[in-house]
Amino acid sequence: MARPAKVHIDITALQNNLQQVKLHAKKQQIMAVVKANAYGHGAVNIAQALEEKVDALAVSCLEEALILRAANITKPIVLLEGIFEPDELPIITQYDLQIVLHNTKQIEYIAHTQLKKPISIWLKVDTGMHRLGFSPSEIGHVYKVLQRSKYIAKPIRLMSHLACADDCNNNITLQQSRIFLDLAKRLGLEASLANSAGILGWHQTHADWVRPGIMLYGISPFINGVAEQEHLKPVMQLESNLINIKQYQRGQAIGYGATWHCPQPMPVGVIAIGYADGYPRHAPSGMPVLVNNKRVPLIGRVSMDMITVDLRSQPNARIGDPVILWGNNLPVEEVAALAGTIAYELLCNVNQRVRLV
Ligand SMILES: *Cc1c(COP(=O)(O)O)cnc(C)c1O
Repeated sequence: MARPAKVHIDITALQNNLQQVKLHAKKQQIMAVVKANAYGHGAVNIAQALEEKVDALAVSCLEEALILRAANITKPIVLLEGIFEPDELPIITQYDLQIVLHNTKQIEYIAHTQLKKPISIWLKVDTGMHRLGFSPSEIGHVYKVLQRSKYIAKPIRLMSHLACADDCNNNITLQQSRIFLDLAKRLGLEASLANSAGILGWHQTHADWVRPGIMLYGISPFINGVAEQEHLKPVMQLESNLINIKQYQRGQAIGYGATWHCPQPMPVGVIAIGYADGYPRHAPSGMPVLVNNKRVPLIGRVSMDMITVDLRSQPNARIGDPVILWGNNLPVEEVAALAGTIAYELLCNVNQRVRLV
């Protein structure tokens, strides 16, 4: 026996979602984003499932890339934050990784390191996100410098990131794509701009390479979006079991802080899932949880390892009965909205303590 908390990963759903990427971006190359342990889905499994069907994979940093290389993933891998220290450079060439180059410090590191092979880069331009990247006015000069560097592989490619594509009514996306496509054309470079929201909602942003993340995992990238509408299927289902059921009297309080009081004599179920597994601590009373595939409300505070639910609607529930925290019939988008966050955060927070199935 083991603690029943587990994540079920549906690779068929993942393949379905990749098909949706290809339907929207028919001519583009695909860089599948598997950073943050593939948004909590297990980077190696996901990368193995996608490897044959995409053109590259993207992660945040060297450590995440090395996990994939250690699992014999041979596809090109792009480090979206590039390098943080010069001693990463020899490892990057050794493992044949590509980096996003976004500031002058990184250029200095490359200039001052003796590399055995030139390094492949994606030159990042800041078209409005105002986080990483060179401004459009300096990019021409930076590009010239890099073109002359013997340590930089040619051709150099161009990348930028969308700030507001999740909002279908926000014109910033059009501004960003105009600036970006102008630059790419002027410099004659292969270019990549679109994340999931760009792929699904803004065809002008598709350029040469698209970078789907959240949509691969079956989540709508749009504000108030519904995965079904985009023909996406959730890949992750977070599951556990009822581990205790008890009858309480009217007025008795449940859990830490004694914040929830039974309004009448009632059965209360305990489920083995908590914030240490990645379930949101701020999930309020009333949050839906599926017990035996039917919705029951969460009551009281979320603990580190457990939550409590109102079982008045399920008098026949038994210890050991199956529970779904999100997945089929309970979209993680809905859970996230009620917990005051976004699906991205909930998925990423699911951690190694929860068994992967
Ligand atoms: C995370 C990330 C993506 C993927 O974004 P989604 O919204 O999950 O599709 C694409 N590009 C960059 C640079 C990223 O950091």
